[in-house]
Formats: sequence, structure tokens, C-alpha cells
Amino acid sequence: AYDVLVVGGGPAGAAAAVYAARKGIRTGVAAERFGGQVNDTLAIENYISVLSTDGPKFAMALESHVKDYGVDVMNLQRADKLVPATTPGGLIEVQLANGATLKSKTVILSTGARWRNVNVPGEEEYKNKGVAYCPHCDGPLFKGKRVAVIGGGNSGVEAAIDLAGLVAHVTLLEFGDQLRADAVLVKKLESLSNVTIIKQAQTTEFTGANGKLNGLNYTDRASGEARRVELEGVFVQIGLVPNTEWLRGVVELSKHGEIIVDAKGQTSVPGVFAAGDATTVPYKQIIIAAGDGAKAALSAFDHIIRN
Ligand code: FAD
Repeated sequence: AYDVLVVGGGPAGAAAAVYAARKGIRTGVAAERFGGQVNDTLAIENYISVLSTDGPKFAMALESHVKDYGVDVMNLQRADKLVPATTPGGLIEVQLANGATLKSKTVILSTGARWRNVNVPGEEEYKNKGVAYCPHCDGPLFKGKRVAVIGGGNSGVEAAIDLAGLVAHVTLLEFGDQLRADAVLVKKLESLSNVTIIKQAQTTEFTGANGKLNGLNYTDRASGEARRVELEGVFVQIGLVPNTEWLRGVVELSKHGEIIVDAKGQTSVPGVFAAGDATTVPYKQIIIAAGDGAKAALSAFDHIIRN
């Protein structure tokens, strides 16, 4: 059995593993894809002390840091069930899709999240070539250019306000006939001179040339007419989905499916901690996930010495 079993090998899981292993306790990491979302990222320019790197390089660095501490890395392993300890201080089980069961005194859940896609032609093709999902990450790449934001909920409207200060022009497209964001955000957005808001817009295609995005097509749902916006970037903001389906009914989740954690990363299940994009902690960023992973590992260690 492990002392600390980390489920998920993104920045949160990697940091948790390093912090746990540095306490000299038996540490394992099971991850479906080591590195996590970072693998799909091109430029990373906001991880403090690293001026600029790219996703695959960062993912490799995470893995080599973890392996340097002799952590048992089980890559390409998907967890599909968590079984809490049956007695106080007993072992927690994690069942893998391959049929194996892992046992541990403590578990750190760091299964991250995934951005919901629009699923239209061109989205895959122009991902990282104009199609983006994270305004805090990629906004500065579009300085002085034209962009669109798809989605008029809080994250879409926040993204549009944020981007309006960086880019030349922002078009916000909402599928429904109303923006769904908080009134104060909508009011702020409407006050900006370089923002156009289009409601009842159903995005139908992302187009490009020479490997770069150059526009999007949409249907005006009111009139049924096909329309087009010429631009250099699109931010898709129709939801970030936590990878927590497998925990439903076992660990307490928010209405958005995020694992509810306290300030120490403790979940509703004794001995089970969580960190990163899968949790209720706001602002989904690498540096935040890594910091929370470290915190969860220290909390797990604290739990072990008290039980
Ligand atoms: P993730 O990185 O999502 O890792 C989750 C891990 O859990 C993965 O190893 C996954 O395979 C594994 N997993 C999931 N389900 C299971 C399961 N059931 N069993 C086992 N393993 C499982 N942030 C920045 O700070 N700067 C940037 O420039 C930046 N750019 C980004 C660009 C893109 C395109 C994207 C998508 C995100 C970007 N982000 C950026 C956000 C950043 O990548 C995330 O905040 C960060 O990766 C979250 O780390 P995490 O460890 O919580 O989760």
C-alpha cells in the first residue's frame, strides 16, 4: 500500500507527488496522460521564473522531476472508482480501468478538467493556430488583433472584457437571446467601445488559410441567415468540465462537478485530498494547480502523522 496515492499527473499531481516523496513516504501517481492539459499548450509564459517554455517541454520537466524522487509513476492508467476506508485510518482504494486496485493511506485527487469544444469544422484544425480556450494564457498573443469570444456566460463575458483591453476588437457571440453573465459584467461589457455583442448566433465553422485562423461563420438564429466575422483569434468559453464523473456519489462535488475542498485541500472523505482544476479553487492556471498540489501533499502528510 502507498502512503500517498496521487490520481492525475498534471501540474497539481506532479507537485503533490514531489512534495509527498520529499517526506520520505511511499508515493505513487496514476495518470491517464502524464502532463495533463499542459501537453496541449503551445507557449507558457506565466509560470513565474520561467520566462517562456512550451507545453510538451513543461510536461517532460514535470515527469522528470517526479521520477527523480523515485515516485512510482503509473502512466496511461485511468481510475474509475474510489472506495473510502471502511474504518477510521483504514486504507482507501482506487480501482483502475484495467481492473487493478491500488490501496493507500491517503489519496490526492488531481484529475484536472477539459474545455468544452464547440464541435464545428475547423476547431481541431486551428487549435493553437487561432482557436484558444484560456484568455489568461493566450490573450497577449492577440495584442492589436481581432478576436471573438464564444459564450455569453460569466466566463465568456469576463474573457471579452479582459481581451478588450489587449486586442483591437472583440466580437462576443451568444447562442441564446440573452447574455447569461451577471448584470454587472454585462453592463461593463456593453460600455466598451471596441466590443460587438451578437446574440442568437450559432457558430457553424472556423475557417483559415495557410495554417492560420482567419474567420468564423455563424447562423443568425433569428433570421436563419448565414453570416461571417473576419478575425485572427477565437476564445471558446462554453464551459470547463472537471474530470470528476467517476467520483459522483462518493466525494462531495459542487453543482459544476468540482470537488469541494477546504483551505487545506481536504475533501468530504477522510484522508482524501484534492488539488488543481478538478476542485472548487478559482482561477484554473498551472501555477495555482501546482501550489494547491503542494498544499494537498502537506495536508496528506499531516493526516498520516495524526492517524
Ligand atoms: P490537468 O493538467 O488537467 O491534469 C489532469 C491529470 O489527470 C492528467 O494527467 C489526466 O490525464 C489525469 N486524469 C484525468 N482523469 C483521470 C482519471 N480518471 N484517472 C487517472 N488520471 C486522470 N495555464 C497557465 O498557467 N498558463 C498557460 O499558458 C496555459 N495555457 C493553456 C492552454 C491550453 C490549450 C489549455 C487547455 C490550458 C492552459 N492552461 C494554462 C491551464 C492549465 O493547463 C491548467 O490550469 C493546469 O494544467 C491544471 O493542472 P491540473 O494538474 O489540475 O490538471
